[in-house]
Amino acid sequence: MTETTLKAVMQFDGNTGQFKPAAHNLTAEKAEQKAAKLKSQGLHAQVLDQPSRHKGRAFKTCQLCQDAADAILRQQKDQAQDAPAIGERAQEE
Ligand SMILES: [Zn+2]
Repeated sequence: MTETTLKAVMQFDGNTGQFKPAAHNLTAEKAEQKAAKLKSQGLHAQVLDQPSRHKGRAFKTCQLCQDAADAILRQQKDQAQDAPAIGERAQEE
């Protein structure tokens, strides 16, 4: 069952200005559902591909998730220079 691409969901925390893990080890379908739910609550969420399954059940304390969350911000800072947001569905509220 290592064939399936697992997804992690990151949620933007307006209080800290950083992304934080919202879920991991999800199927693509579950991840989209999770992201849609967060977006319906007015939260900014981002679905990421996981290169591998994350160990441990607690995404809140998952180092890989934390690294991924940090990486989003770094990418956005890099791309903010010349290109707008990542992703094909850049829809502003
Ligand atoms: Zn994780």
